[in-house]
Amino acid sequence: MYCRILEAFRRIHLRTMVIISVTVSVISVAVVFYIQSYSFFSSIKQDFAVDMEQKVRQSIFENLDSYLKIQESLNQLNTAIAGTGQLDLWDEQKLADILLKEVAENSLVDSAYFANEVGGVVSVGQYHDQYTISWKQGMKDGELYVYSADRHGDLLHLIRTEPNYEPRLRPWYSEAKRLKDAFWTNVYVGNSVPALMISNSLPLLDEQGNVVGVFGTEILLERFSEYLRTLSISPNGKAYLVEPGGMLIASSSQEPNLLFQQEELVPIQAQYSSDPILSGSWNLIQEQIQKEGAFQNNTQEYRLEEENYYLDISCYYYKDALRWYLIIAVPKGDYNQHNSMLFLKLTATAAAFLAMAFVLGVLMAKKILHPIRMLNRSVLEICSGKWGAQIPTDRSDELGELTCSFNQMSKTIEESYESLLWQKNELEYLNANLEEIVRRRTKELQILSITDELTGIYNHRYIVETLKNKMNGWKKDGEPLAIGIFDIDFFKQINDTYGHLEGNQILITLSQFLKKNIRYEDVVGRYGGEEFLLIMPNTTLEEAYQLADALREEASHLQMGQSQIRMTFSGGIAACESNNVDEIIRVADAKLYQAKAQGRNRIVS
Ligand code: GH3
Ligand code: MG
Ligand code: MG
Repeated sequence: MYCRILEAFRRIHLRTMVIISVTVSVISVAVVFYIQSYSFFSSIKQDFAVDMEQKVRQSIFENLDSYLKIQESLNQLNTAIAGTGQLDLWDEQKLADILLKEVAENSLVDSAYFANEVGGVVSVGQYHDQYTISWKQGMKDGELYVYSADRHGDLLHLIRTEPNYEPRLRPWYSEAKRLKDAFWTNVYVGNSVPALMISNSLPLLDEQGNVVGVFGTEILLERFSEYLRTLSISPNGKAYLVEPGGMLIASSSQEPNLLFQQEELVPIQAQYSSDPILSGSWNLIQEQIQKEGAFQNNTQEYRLEEENYYLDISCYYYKDALRWYLIIAVPKGDYNQHNSMLFLKLTATAAAFLAMAFVLGVLMAKKILHPIRMLNRSVLEICSGKWGAQIPTDRSDELGELTCSFNQMSKTIEESYESLLWQKNELEYLNANLEEIVRRRTKELQILSITDELTGIYNHRYIVETLKNKMNGWKKDGEPLAIGIFDIDFFKQINDTYGHLEGNQILITLSQFLKKNIRYEDVVGRYGGEEFLLIMPNTTLEEAYQLADALREEASHLQMGQSQIRMTFSGGIAACESNNVDEIIRVADAKLYQAKAQGRNRIVS
């Protein structure tokens, strides 16, 4: 098993190996990252919900603080200016100009006003970019004129008059006067504006501490609703502000928080609300107060109409003056949705990791394998005889070094090959010459070995060898074969008379004569000093005799050497009777002896 795995491992291509290893390592990292992230985020789901709601709560509190603080700050500013005596508190027009400027510049202040101890009043307000200015002329008790105005305080037209408006009876005035301090009213429905609002007032005291008048500001609680709507709590999350009496002050839902009841606009009461979250939350608050005697901020999972919510209910305090409940409700499904999104994001990240790993693997494989392939191709080129193959490279890593070494090796091989080729050609040339010389020499040696040195005809060894060969295949009933042995007559005497060199000339001349005058198939050689052996194949004894005698006759007329000597020779003829070479030579020799004995210059057969 182990061996099989090892074998399979060995067979894997390097390219596949690189891609697999890179992909597997990145997948491992991605999987670990995926599992860790998913389990981590799942475990903190509830904590996350609680944490998020508390953060939203904190943010809402801070914003409410800032909204309300602006109302107070403006009153403080106005009393401060009035206290310096720079304001003519009896000039309603100048007062209106200043207050309108303040309201126009402070988008969070919807109305600002001042009333004095004699019943005089001036008030400016903005509602949906419409400005109104109201005053009593001379800042004395009398009729209240309500004008529409532009942003700069110029009166546009008189809207109405109110003959019986008495500011000193209003809680904002009377309570501030009584407390001789800042006062926040309860939430109320506006007199001329169909909206819920709340006002802050601050008395203006003289040097003796007597109340001279009261400055006031008003904010529409719609602004809180608008603010709550801007919060992205969760896709279906909601937030509500409820007054301790149950009045809905503001909510993130689009529904209005005022209802027409018996031709009158009345605030919505939480306990009667058709919104189950609002009414349910309110019941929870009441239950808690009944059970524990007081309310405490809490976050809990709560089931409302088949849906589970994370419910955060807290109490908002503004100084000691205001106390409201803040309800934040987020359906659990939103967090599941959040989780699904998280799951999707994690899956997409893991997929991106995978794709990246694959691309990385392919690139790495290419980076590693490309030069190896090039090397392999070049090695094959060298194998096929294309020496000096070079691989272009601009890499400085290990593969770059290997490529440079290869190029160097290839160049060296090419140079060595060229040198070897040159040497080979030279050797081949020399060899060809040598062969020719040897062939020629061998031929010469062969010729020399069978040629008689003096006469140029076959020597004794060759002529006897030839006779043996011919007689070897001879059969009695086959073709006849005859030989002749010739011996120059009185040659010793010739030598003695004309000299040895002249004798040699006679030997040469006679030899060449015989060679030229025998038949094509006949063979002649020098048998001894002045003796010759003539082999006559396919020739009978008689024919041989005729031939030999004709030669003898013709040769006797030749004039040989410088001395133009004439000579004769005698010959003995023998026909082949058996395969015995010695026998035929012996017979021919005996016949020659007879020819000598009979007087020479004759042939005996
Ligand atoms: P016969 O008629 O009986 O043959 O008398 P002959 O003188 O020829 O007697 P023999 O055959 O005995 O003598 C041969 C002589 O041939 C002896 C020798 O000096 C001579 N001879 C042998 N070889 C050569 C040679 O190569 N050159 C020369 N010039 N003479 C040779
Ligand atoms: Mg002799
Ligand atoms: Mg002789």
